Amino acid sequence: MRLSRYFLPVLKENPSEAQIVSHRLMLRAGMIKQSSAGIYSWLPLGFKVLKKIEGIVHEEQMRAGHIPLLMSTMQPAELWKESGRYDDYGQEMLRINDRHDRDMLFGPTNEEMITDIFRSHVNSYKDLPLTMYQVQWKFRDEIRPRFGVMRGREFYMKDGYNFDLSKEDALHAYNRHLVSYLRTYERMGLQAIPMRADGGPIGGDYTHEFLVLAETGESEVFYDSAVTDLSFGDREIDYDSVEQCQGVLEEFTTKYARTDETHDEALFNDIPEDRRRVARGIEVGQIFYFGTKYSESMGATVQTADGKSTPVHMGSHGIGVSRLLGAIIEANHDDNGIIWPEGVTPFHCGIVNLKQGDEAADAACNDLYKALTAAGLDPLYDDRKERAGGKFATMDLIGLPWRITVGPRGLKNGVVELTSRRSGESEELAPEAAVAKIVEIYQNHPSPQGF
Ligand code: ATP
Ligand code: MG
Repeated sequence: MRLSRYFLPVLKENPSEAQIVSHRLMLRAGMIKQSSAGIYSWLPLGFKVLKKIEGIVHEEQMRAGHIPLLMSTMQPAELWKESGRYDDYGQEMLRINDRHDRDMLFGPTNEEMITDIFRSHVNSYKDLPLTMYQVQWKFRDEIRPRFGVMRGREFYMKDGYNFDLSKEDALHAYNRHLVSYLRTYERMGLQAIPMRADGGPIGGDYTHEFLVLAETGESEVFYDSAVTDLSFGDREIDYDSVEQCQGVLEEFTTKYARTDETHDEALFNDIPEDRRRVARGIEVGQIFYFGTKYSESMGATVQTADGKSTPVHMGSHGIGVSRLLGAIIEANHDDNGIIWPEGVTPFHCGIVNLKQGDEAADAACNDLYKALTAAGLDPLYDDRKERAGGKFATMDLIGLPWRITVGPRGLKNGVVELTSRRSGESEELAPEAAVAKIVEIYQNHPSPQGF
């Protein structure tokens, strides 16, 4: 993309309505525009990152064997009356009457709807296990929408649902989700720690929340610092293997890590004092096993091998896709702006032309642009007739991890400059070598096709 043809409405001033750094930077980098409290339009740069994150979520869900589908955002109230949650959910549910005065709602989550789909089409144990998921807009009429996309009213969420014949099978699905979530967040450059949580309105005994440590997080968390040494890395895992998934769960959940809802002071005090941590975190996901809660009330049953009818065991699993943008920025920024991890960056690298209109500089930039594009990468070429300082400030603000700077002086010596946004370090090298280096970097960070 050439910046002169793109839509990137960056702000010079700090917007006064933003209380936390991620919100401020998303507004300043021209990623989002509020349309009303807690509701945002996603401008091109924000949309690109949102889709990258969504793409990683899809890839990791499908890798775990989960099947994508898309349910409607609008739901009929009847389904929620069947489960008993229509009254329980309270004012967070946006209730709407259609022209025939039928009670509808904008889905805040989809347990009822997926259970209805399941019971309409699945009757036999032979069709189990089954896990389906979607990435879809949700609406919760939060009492205090704030912090930009972190606590929106309209937000983008991955929600998945498993259907299993037995509790044992459903717990395998639970463990499989935990593993796939660890992989998902790591690909986004985040450490998200699974913490023992509270069932809340969805209910259930087994639940973990995934928290990214950040001072601006809304949750208070208590953990053994040893959990921050754990990393999933690039290990191979067989998602069908009960032992392997169980092993990962144990590795990542045995050490103490809890939110304030489940915190136990006595257990916490058993941790050696120098490893006890009290901090704040951002919830970026949650997994639940809730047994037959919905399948019993809504009649989602299957025939077993011996011909009996039994309610299926279920769980649900969410990832806050739009909230993740805020969480990633909270964890990756400096005074000059965002620092995108390679896995989610909107453009793979920036090209800054120090002297637009100089024949040699223009030609070198065009060649770099072509070479990067031909290698399957998505560069952003700042081809505006602007001062170098302004171009650098924009690149730093929008946070592309790599920048190639091209100017007539370097070109006389056959070199361009390659700069890492994170370390600030630069090296001079031939244009072809800069391209080769960027291509190599992204081979280790496969990212989904961009928009
Ligand atoms: P919270 O406790 O933050 O209100 P929750 O526990 O009610 O969230 P879940 O039902 O677990 O949310 O939803 C799954 C994920 O969706 C959460 O882990 C979070 O990342 C994200 N999410 C929930 N509410 C919002 C919101 N209002 N804005 C943005 N993302 C949200
Ligand atoms: Mg939650």
